[in-house]
Amino acid sequence: MNKDSKVYLIGSGIASLASAVYLEKDTGVAAENIIILEKDQITGGALDGAGDSDKGFVVRGGRMHEMHYECYWELLSHIPSLEDPEVSVRDESYEFNERFISKGQARLLKDGKKIDVSSYGLSLAQEADFLKLTFVSEASLGNDRIEDWFDEAFFETNFWYIWTSMFAFQKWSSLAEMRRYMKRFIHLVDGLYELGGVMRTKYNQYDSVVRPMRKYLEAKGVKFEMEREVVDIDFDISTELKTATALQMKDGSEITLGENDFVFFTNGSITESTDNGTWNTPAKLKGIAESASWKLWKTIAEKDPAFGNPSPFCDDIDLQKWYSFTATMKDSTFHDYMENFSGNVDGTGGLVTMTDSNWLMSIVIARQPHFPNQPKDVKIFWGYGLYPDKEVHPMYDSAHNPRYLAAALKAISR
Ligand SMILES: Cc1cc2nc3c(=O)[nH]c(=O)nc-3n(C[C@H](O)[C@H](O)[C@H](O)COP(=O)(O)OP(=O)(O)OC[C@H]3O[C@@H](n4cnc5c(N)ncnc54)[C@H](O)[C@@H]3O)c2cc1C
Repeated sequence: MNKDSKVYLIGSGIASLASAVYLEKDTGVAAENIIILEKDQITGGALDGAGDSDKGFVVRGGRMHEMHYECYWELLSHIPSLEDPEVSVRDESYEFNERFISKGQARLLKDGKKIDVSSYGLSLAQEADFLKLTFVSEASLGNDRIEDWFDEAFFETNFWYIWTSMFAFQKWSSLAEMRRYMKRFIHLVDGLYELGGVMRTKYNQYDSVVRPMRKYLEAKGVKFEMEREVVDIDFDISTELKTATALQMKDGSEITLGENDFVFFTNGSITESTDNGTWNTPAKLKGIAESASWKLWKTIAEKDPAFGNPSPFCDDIDLQKWYSFTATMKDSTFHDYMENFSGNVDGTGGLVTMTDSNWLMSIVIARQPHFPNQPKDVKIFWGYGLYPDKEVHPMYDSAHNPRYLAAALKAISR
């Protein structure tokens, strides 16, 4: 790589934004030669957040971070906050987390009441299964699912409800993946029952992370090309080297790659092909045909086995899909009830999981405002269901139905 190299980053999620920051800062590539090609009109990929109090606010997810996201905090230490450019996004977030410390007091609910989570409820045999999983090799687990490893009763323990709702694992998710998470977050296990150690950004991640990063990068000269989908990558393939020679774009154009040019592609995406529903229109279940990232990965995987096999990650949408929703409320009734009921002021409680909802629904009341343009009297919360194909429990009815809120309010005021 030299100063004349051109670097193309496919997609504008945090992976590409982070790459652009370090390419510009550390490699000597001219900022103007770093080009982010994004298929959407908006930057940030999974880190989205949009709306207003009339149309409603939407976030597809809320990110939990922790102290040892070393690379993430290092990255954000270089990015000035939008509200106070003298302060980095890292320091803004640290300061926010000193004021609002995660300590969930209503982590699990059943029949509208809090469950005592002071014990994880694991039997000795289940604890042993758990420990054994950390000691065996990943390779020995093959394609096993979580439900292949643990007994049936494990899935009714406090531990499982806390774990599954925190990391969005379904019973049939990959056991190897669960093992990776266990190893990655083992230091949090003592406080896991109250989400101890979880850190958040001041606002949703689009406003707190993506917008400041884009501003920083554009000021340096990095180019963002929006609505530019890459549909194929041409390669010169020999036994030793696979060299990208051109990018084929959806609009029929081609970007030729020189000898010193580079391409970075984040293959696959958790939010690829998602759809937004409204109060009156359900979200559509989209497939690979509507995706860009999976399709591109599949296309290049056909050219050489070295490009991997996307199928296990994207072919079985029914096993991997879930719903999330954002509620925008024009008064604070629900938030006030939840504050009284849980003992958590907003921004300190994190996930509240309704263990008897068939969707296995959780909600999170982030610190308000969660959007910089959110008026004081408008409140939002986010939630999700892990098993959306199951019929909704009558008590929870539908998240899109006002009766759901009425039932929830009735339950929590008992
Ligand atoms: C609901 C939810 C909750 C989450 N919670 C947490 C959490 O608590 N903690 C945590 O650490 N992580 C969490 N994550 C995960 C985290 O948000 C993602 O891992 C991360 O944002 C992924 O970033 P990325 O850049 O790899 O990909 P993405 O954000 O998926 O970005 C990919 C981008 O590439 C674009 N693109 C794809 N293909 C093409 C193409 N062919 N041409 C042009 N553009 C293309 C897409 O439009 C998109 O903008 C959560 C994710 C979700 C969805």
